[in-house]
Amino acid sequence: MTDLTRLSAADLAGKLTAGEVSSVEATQAHLDRMTAVEPAVNAFLHVAAEQALATAADVDTRRAAGEQLHPLAGVPIAVKDVVVTRGLPTTAGSQILEGWVPPYDATLVERIKAAGLPILGKTNMDEFAMGSSTEHSAYGDTHNPWDLDRIPGGSGGGSAAAVAAFEAPLAIGTDTGGSIRQPAAVTGTVGVKPTYGSVSRYGLIAMASSLDQAGPVTRTVLDSALLHELIGGHDPRDSTSIPDPLPGLVAAARQGATGDLSGLRVGVVTELQGEGYQPGVLARFHESLELLRSAGAEIVEVSCPHFEYALGAYYLIMPSEASSNLAKFDGMRFGLRVEPEQGPVTAERVMAATRGTGFGDEVKRRVILGTYALSAGYYDAYYGSAQKVRTLIQRDFANAFAAADVLVSPTTPTTAFKLGEKLDDPLAMYLNDVATIPANLAGIPGLSLPSGLSDDGLPSGFQVLAPAKADDRLYRVGAALEALLEKSWGGPLLAQAPELEVGK
Ligand code: GLN
Repeated sequence: MTDLTRLSAADLAGKLTAGEVSSVEATQAHLDRMTAVEPAVNAFLHVAAEQALATAADVDTRRAAGEQLHPLAGVPIAVKDVVVTRGLPTTAGSQILEGWVPPYDATLVERIKAAGLPILGKTNMDEFAMGSSTEHSAYGDTHNPWDLDRIPGGSGGGSAAAVAAFEAPLAIGTDTGGSIRQPAAVTGTVGVKPTYGSVSRYGLIAMASSLDQAGPVTRTVLDSALLHELIGGHDPRDSTSIPDPLPGLVAAARQGATGDLSGLRVGVVTELQGEGYQPGVLARFHESLELLRSAGAEIVEVSCPHFEYALGAYYLIMPSEASSNLAKFDGMRFGLRVEPEQGPVTAERVMAATRGTGFGDEVKRRVILGTYALSAGYYDAYYGSAQKVRTLIQRDFANAFAAADVLVSPTTPTTAFKLGEKLDDPLAMYLNDVATIPANLAGIPGLSLPSGLSDDGLPSGFQVLAPAKADDRLYRVGAALEALLEKSWGGPLLAQAPELEVGK
């Protein structure tokens, strides 16, 4: 029998629709896989087996009754723990939210439930989505399925590892500076950060509201398009939600898979390669460019001179917004409450004790940084300047998109590093996002897909960027490149990943 956990979401959906397998069988197969590999991978903070199987059984009954269902109905999914889920614990990887069970669903979760996708559980992440390795989780490290001693990326390492380890065919991530794309790159999976405002932020625990965006984590480009269409679209409960629908994403992925890119201009960003990039990552990047050329694309070089300042601007804007967003975790409203060990129990002292205990070092570092950058007398010098840089980066993109339909770069400078390697060096950790952050600052969409194995035998990622609301271009180019690459590898890259189940 086919191993149901190895199928893409689209193929599994096909088998469900054809009645070849039931959703209960598919969901159980993934729960069994989780039981087998979670001790090694630790991608999940909470497993919702009972609820997932109940959803699956309901979908099976409705399908048997001839009801018209969503194309992905019955395909199981994992959700990053920064997204609120009614009745399921939601911690955002933080001790401060331990024990909190949200009374409502995020809009994207409502849509997932309405479409009948069983939610397998909540995935591990860096605390409040701050990090590039998932090592800042209060609940232990997640391990990269390609090499268990290495990081799965972050902040959404749990979602990426779950998909790479065949624990879930689909997962939800969030990307404020790269947390969908960077984990995808280092685990050999596909991840998409949609256009800002095209997927509702209602029910995401906010880190930096002007940058946060939820999106798909999958094993194929088509699967990302299917999930993106399901979770996207206008939401009156998010004031920054874009009213008009995006062009067809699934149609673009299917068109791209035919492999014809004639007439498409692909811009290689000069500033996103070279120094600091691992030779094997660059080699895979250039091979992918050649494949795009062979599919008829015209390759041009574009310069974005202000990208040099993107990381600096991000690490002022993001902590500023985060320091404000995290003020609500005060021991009064959600989760943890710690009383001072001695002295009077005043509101202020309870808040201090709760935040002192409940937040980890990286969160404290950013709250301090953000509070400082926003303080009177420093606001213009730091936050104000960073916002001006943001405008310059947006102009760089506008100029580049005048010369090219999509822009491309390696997703990350290196492959997965060892657990612990960068934990004591925040600046080295921040550098992982040098190629992903510009898209967040400009609000444009980006996709990462595997470009092959680097010289160290670990996956490297290829990033495609498109103008705002032109997310369809990511799927057209991504699907074309994926088809060409898989032809050269003789199958999906993940087929080359080591077996994790003991005894197999
Ligand atoms: N690694 C980046 C950070 O630590 C991005 C995080 C994210 O996208 N959530 O801020």
